[in-house]
Amino acid sequence: MASTLRVPPAQDKRFLGQPVGLATLFTTEMWERFSYYGMRAILVLYLVDSVADGGLGMSTPQAVGIYAVYSSMVWLLAVPGGWLSDRLWGPRKTVFIGAFIIAAGHYIMAVPVDWAIWPGLAAIALGTGFLKPNISAMVGGLYDGDSDQGERRDAGFSIYYMGINIGGFVAPFVCGFLATGIGWHAGFAAAGVGMTIALVVYIALAPRTLGPIGKKVPNPATQALLRKVFTIVALFFAGAFVLFGIDIAMGTFESDHVIWFLTAVTLVTPFIYFTRIFKNPNLDTTERSRMRAYIWIFVGAVMFWMIFDQGGSLLNIFAEDNTSRFVGSYEFPASWLQSVDPLGIIIFAPLFALLWMKLGSRAPSLPAKFALAVFIIGLSFILMSGLGYLADKNGTVQWEWLVLVFLIQVMAELLLSPTGLSASTQLAPRGMESQVLALWFLATAVGDSIGGVLAGLQPVLGNAGYFFALGSLAILMAVLLTTQIKRLRGLMVGVH
Ligand code: GLN
Repeated sequence: MASTLRVPPAQDKRFLGQPVGLATLFTTEMWERFSYYGMRAILVLYLVDSVADGGLGMSTPQAVGIYAVYSSMVWLLAVPGGWLSDRLWGPRKTVFIGAFIIAAGHYIMAVPVDWAIWPGLAAIALGTGFLKPNISAMVGGLYDGDSDQGERRDAGFSIYYMGINIGGFVAPFVCGFLATGIGWHAGFAAAGVGMTIALVVYIALAPRTLGPIGKKVPNPATQALLRKVFTIVALFFAGAFVLFGIDIAMGTFESDHVIWFLTAVTLVTPFIYFTRIFKNPNLDTTERSRMRAYIWIFVGAVMFWMIFDQGGSLLNIFAEDNTSRFVGSYEFPASWLQSVDPLGIIIFAPLFALLWMKLGSRAPSLPAKFALAVFIIGLSFILMSGLGYLADKNGTVQWEWLVLVFLIQVMAELLLSPTGLSASTQLAPRGMESQVLALWFLATAVGDSIGGVLAGLQPVLGNAGYFFALGSLAILMAVLLTTQIKRLRGLMVGVH
């Protein structure tokens, strides 16, 4: 099949005013996210369900712990995923390999035996790490010839982000329905079918619509570097093996130690990553300056995801325990409120995309959007704190309040998440796009780990105190970011 494009992406407006390649990446990612969020929606329920009913009969803390480790591993593995793409395979091939591994993982989980979940989850985390940063890098690649200051790129990422959320919105209903109607493994199988569709779409359409995008290995590794990396990875695993070997031999081992270990790895990784990027002698002054700005982007994103991702944990539990969810005489399940966020994104993403297009160069700069997003997410937790206070007094609050919290978070998400994705592809030094995207997803991994640790304060502070403390922290961070807007715009050299 021809791998050249008749219309160069910079002039191509065939998909909602965007290059036609975006349709391929949009559809692939929509189905990948369908599989991801579909499985995630039923995972914890499966873990805690009784053995008699086909579950694994775990306690809630055990299930939440496994869920937390799994989620942060998904984002952490974007680091090797980005590296392999930049240095060994190129984005196009890495996404294919990732998609294949994810589909295999879901099908393994569909096998109705207890142990299937472990290799299944490991495969999904690994495959997602391969796919997620690199498919996003290819979206960025569609706009590399654009002459504007990134407005079309931002709009394209907003549309792409909508695809993500269409998948995220629909999947819990489908997989949840099958899981309760037929059985857990049928739900996992549905996720596998979704991923198969993603894979088929990608294989069929990528060669026709993406042209050369993502084919080149941006910065091929030498044999010597490969050997060095292999040695480092082997030493890492050997170290972990010895550490846990001693722990087990001394009889002190607890499953929590694995969580601590992985949290420590997650927290240390960005330091190593940034140091490595800055030490790279091939970076020119502009690239170096942009990466200095990126440190702030990273910190803002950590704060954002730290709060945002508690929507699936503490806010979910709040929905279950502290909201009155009656529509007429029907009480709907708390988990339904989890669909408010993706639905909000689907509704508002096109409006935001339009707004940025309309505003053109008058649109707020990236650091301004970030400061505002962190402020708004902080505000959402201040409101949560008020709800916590009312719930303490009255037992419950009306469910609509929680919808309002989620909708406020949608505004913050739209300011930060598609924008951050887009900016990561623009601020990245040449040949390091996938690695910087890995760094972007690493911010989620770090935010989630810190959020997981901080969540331990909730029983101590109570809902009102806990949400207020975190909300205030975010607002403080937003003020700090605001003081940096002008400096960051300078450091970003031409990137808006
Ligand atoms: N919800 C989005 C997705 O699944 C963003 C997640 C993230 O960047 N942490 O792609």
